[in-house]
Amino acid sequence: MPDRRWAWVEVDVRAVEHNVRVLREAAGPSARFMAVVKADAYGHGAVEVARAALRAGADRLGVATLDEAVSLRDAGIGAPVHLLSEAPPEAAPDVVAAAVVPTVCTKQFALALSKAASAASVTVPFHLKIDTGMNRIGVRAEEAADFALWLKALPGIEMEGAFTHFATADVLGDWEYERQVERMSRAIGRLRTEGLRPPLVHAANSAATVLRPEARLDMVRCGIAIYGLHPAPSTYGRIDLHPAMRVVARVSFVKRIGLGEGVSYGFTYHASGPTTIATLPLGYADGVPRLASNKMDVLIGGRRCRQVGRVCMDQLMVEIPEGLAVSVGDEAVIVGGQGGERIAMDELAEHASTINYEIACAFGRRLERVHVRS
Ligand SMILES: *Cc1c(COP(=O)(O)O)cnc(C)c1O
Repeated sequence: MPDRRWAWVEVDVRAVEHNVRVLREAAGPSARFMAVVKADAYGHGAVEVARAALRAGADRLGVATLDEAVSLRDAGIGAPVHLLSEAPPEAAPDVVAAAVVPTVCTKQFALALSKAASAASVTVPFHLKIDTGMNRIGVRAEEAADFALWLKALPGIEMEGAFTHFATADVLGDWEYERQVERMSRAIGRLRTEGLRPPLVHAANSAATVLRPEARLDMVRCGIAIYGLHPAPSTYGRIDLHPAMRVVARVSFVKRIGLGEGVSYGFTYHASGPTTIATLPLGYADGVPRLASNKMDVLIGGRRCRQVGRVCMDQLMVEIPEGLAVSVGDEAVIVGGQGGERIAMDELAEHASTINYEIACAFGRRLERVHVRS
């Protein structure tokens, strides 16, 4: 427990190792494994998670920004690090200097990368991003072969891989997913016709790794599942994941209030009788969603306690059930297990009308992280 603040995030690196192992097994022996550690490992701490994932057999790491890649390098991590979207063209020299594997999908960036690689007298392996229908980034599937031929003529860069990303991998029976798979295989077929054979063709995120054997190809890219969180309810029960993050606080204040007294900004809650209210020293600036005010539960003494009144920036209040003795300093769990009870990241996400991904990332902002081995 950190000694400067009574609220923190506990990350179990053994859970991350377990998750990487079961996902690798699911992906099969012929697929390489990329552990996606963007956004500070979805709030879990990129360096520690990257090390745990590599220990458990991950081959590569994936990040979203050049700065994320550089902080892995600065920590002494030497494994291949993929930049999953293009950096700005003016950052190309830094991409080359950090020895990251860039994504390429525009001519401007490709030209800048080629120039920077040539200036440094190196050959940079890149992965071509193919848009098969998500319409986020990528060269359109029909134009991939022409674009790849154009790239082939540029000095200093070499296509090591080609990849796409699914919009609906988690929706079983979805025809748009099937259409993306078809477009990808046609695009790769056309590359081959042109004599271009990227050694690593990849497409699968966590959902596809678990649910779609045909999408595993040469490499899978798992993010959310390595943290023990399900990409969607469709993977519940399909894989044995261990949640790595617990969000913990200690009770900072306890008081008794009377019938009709309100709690927190706007008095959206009034006590229906004499009630014990406990305060926890964390709030929406720490990632507790304000939208979950008056809906979420917190665990104290192994029991569910209703959070009441609006979640503030740095504090929140909970109603203590009759018969539960609470003192300042008692442990409270916002996400994770305590005794036999558990609050899942998914439960909190639901109260905030969002997904576990967003909630986990937000807890990484201000709370200190403690990495433990269970
Ligand atoms: C974030 C990301 C992933 C990981 O997705 P999860 O759903 O977290 O497994 C994979 N590929 C790309 C391109 C991404 O941006």
